[in-house]
Amino acid sequence: MASMMQPQIILLKEGTDTSQGKAQLLSNINAVMAVGDVVRTTLGPRGMDKLIHDDKGSVTISNDGATIMKLLDIVHPAAKILVDIAKSQDSEVGDGTTTVVLLAAEFLKEAKPFVEDGVHSQNLIRSYRTASTLAIAKVKELAVSIEGKSVEEKKGLLAKCAATTLSSKLIGGEKEFFATMVVDAVMAIGDDDRLNLIGIKKVPGGNMRDSFLVDGVAFKKTFSYAGFEQQPKKFLNPKILLLNIELELKSEKENAEIRLSDPSQYQSIVDAEWNIIYDKLDKCVESGAKVVLSRLAIGDLATQYFADRDIFCAGRVAEEDLNRVAAAAGGTVQTSVNNIIPEVLGTCEIFEEKQVGGERFNIFSGCPSGRTATIVLRGGADQFIEEAERSLHDAIMIVRRAVKNSTVVPGGGAIDMEVSKYLRQHSRTIAGKSQLFINSYAKALEVIPRQLCDNAGFDATDVLNKLRQKHAMQSGEGASYGVDINTGGIADSYANFVWEPAVVKINAINAATEAACLILSVDETVKNPKSESAQGDAAAGAMGRGRGGGRGRGMRRR
Ligand code: ADP
Ligand code: MG
Repeated sequence: MASMMQPQIILLKEGTDTSQGKAQLLSNINAVMAVGDVVRTTLGPRGMDKLIHDDKGSVTISNDGATIMKLLDIVHPAAKILVDIAKSQDSEVGDGTTTVVLLAAEFLKEAKPFVEDGVHSQNLIRSYRTASTLAIAKVKELAVSIEGKSVEEKKGLLAKCAATTLSSKLIGGEKEFFATMVVDAVMAIGDDDRLNLIGIKKVPGGNMRDSFLVDGVAFKKTFSYAGFEQQPKKFLNPKILLLNIELELKSEKENAEIRLSDPSQYQSIVDAEWNIIYDKLDKCVESGAKVVLSRLAIGDLATQYFADRDIFCAGRVAEEDLNRVAAAAGGTVQTSVNNIIPEVLGTCEIFEEKQVGGERFNIFSGCPSGRTATIVLRGGADQFIEEAERSLHDAIMIVRRAVKNSTVVPGGGAIDMEVSKYLRQHSRTIAGKSQLFINSYAKALEVIPRQLCDNAGFDATDVLNKLRQKHAMQSGEGASYGVDINTGGIADSYANFVWEPAVVKINAINAATEAACLILSVDETVKNPKSESAQGDAAAGAMGRGRGGGRGRGMRRR
């Protein structure tokens, strides 16, 4: 009673909405778990895809954690952290985006009962950090290096890695086919860090198997004028001229005015215009180039002119394509046709224009610097090809990482089980509450094999028991056993080439632990009414004010 008599202390501005304490923490954990539940079913080779459509009516079908998280448009402030870790996992290592979200959600799920029981989150955080350090050290210890193998052998191993990534995707049915393609593409660009040197071109229609790799550049035939048909469509070792100028007869500007005193001068004015363009064209021809590409338009006059001299030309070539030709064929893009020296011309073994499905493609293969590759993707619907492109991106990133780091760990939940076992064993050596927390962390790691089973329709409890038994073997021979996605039993992932680059797992464990600790360390959310109205979120603001009396402790906002 007495407390009611005390004057109310007003600390924050009218309309500020705060929520704090245990209730707030639990609400954040719930939000994160809800996000985990959304992506849960996409994990692994038997994972399902998500169809996401936005209010503009665009439809995306994806299995990629980062893509789904990005498109979900999550508004919950705590859950947004998961979107960020998925994104960073995607940009850092390119794969394992579902894994990272799932792990973070599971760490928090395991922490929840402790929070409810009044454990201080700092204790949890400390134990989780220790567990994460131990886990990462263990992954590093278990990782196997593929260094020191012959190129052919290495290629084979990398292809297996790429196939593991692809097996969970829509194009999983053709994973070997695409895996070799990805490995060849990555090998082609060598040490170069610019991933955009690998182009992916999408041509709807046809069969997935019609996709092919060009060891050079390929792009869709650009718009062309009459005369184009007469140009040769195939060259061996042609010189290639790259331009950034217009080769077109310009119509006069509307306000151009020329005064003539003598009607006979008229012809010379008309001629002057023609002379300018003929001069440019002559210079192109003199350079000895057999293929002329330009960023800007190449008009009908120029097209015909080149056709008469057995030269191929293409105008309005996209900038990235032109740059890739320059990188591959070794030329430089010119902004003037004066003074074209041989050094600025590129070359390649074969240039040809080819029919691919319903499209014609300009293909430059056998490029001297060889530092580019283009994958031409075929397949049914647009959404299908787009998802295929994202999947290939994942695979390219993985192979790239494996080339650079060249250590792998067994997938299919094997590494997770092994690390989990290790942490459980370790926890027994600890006295105090920390033992429980590290044990929970270890348990959370099992979410990966469990979810792989669930998604494939296997009996997760049964499979997990088998895995635990295998991993507990003293001899250590069961260490690489994971879920066998084909039979519903367990199998040696290492022997079956279900591999993952170690860096994917390390990054996932690291990022997921950080995210979990971050959320555990938040015990208060303050929503400032000003920033609210700045966002135009008037409705929510009205609600907050409506509950003005609720500015008390422990009030949850939603
Ligand atoms: P993420 O976005 O996390 O990469 P994925 O859907 O690609 O999610 O699933 C990756 C998980 O699937 C990894 O744990 C990997 O080990 C597992 N996995 C991939 N291929 C297989 C396979 N053939 N058998 C068993 N597990 C596999
Ligand atoms: Mg993956």
